[in-house]
Amino acid sequence: MDSPKAGALRRKARAVGRVTPQIQQLIDGMIDAMHEASGVGLAAPQVGVSKRVIITEVEERLQVLVDPKIVKREGEEIGTEGCLSMPGIVADVPRAARVIVKAKNRKGKGFTLDADGLLARVLQHEVDHLDGVLFLDRVVDTSTIREVTASAEVEAAVTAA
Ligand SMILES: [Zn+2]
Repeated sequence: MDSPKAGALRRKARAVGRVTPQIQQLIDGMIDAMHEASGVGLAAPQVGVSKRVIITEVEERLQVLVDPKIVKREGEEIGTEGCLSMPGIVADVPRAARVIVKAKNRKGKGFTLDADGLLARVLQHEVDHLDGVLFLDRVVDTSTIREVTASAEVEAAVTAA
């Protein structure tokens, strides 16, 4: 994103509750923004809206999660991450290898998502955004923090979310 709204990025986002047409509009705008940035995920605070909405797109499968809650975490995996709100920086971040997430979809219907691999990582990255946590806060080995310049390199090696 070109102009990260630092305030929203560091704030705890508010629960949505009922999924109104305004929230659906927010979701559509987020999908456009994620596609434009070739990202694999996006959280509403990244577009300056402090509400608990995230989207992910992994293996061409788009997921919309309103008021997501991680109800179970299993295992640990270290992987490289980047963030659309912090272009040009990547680092290795430990995450749970598998998560179970409860959320509402864009119609307000509850569902449960059982994810591992890249999707599990992106979900944890995005839910962190809702709590004002950025991926650099999760880095354990700070020697893995590095700058990347070529965007092709970022897309090949990294989860930008
Ligand atoms: Zn991010």
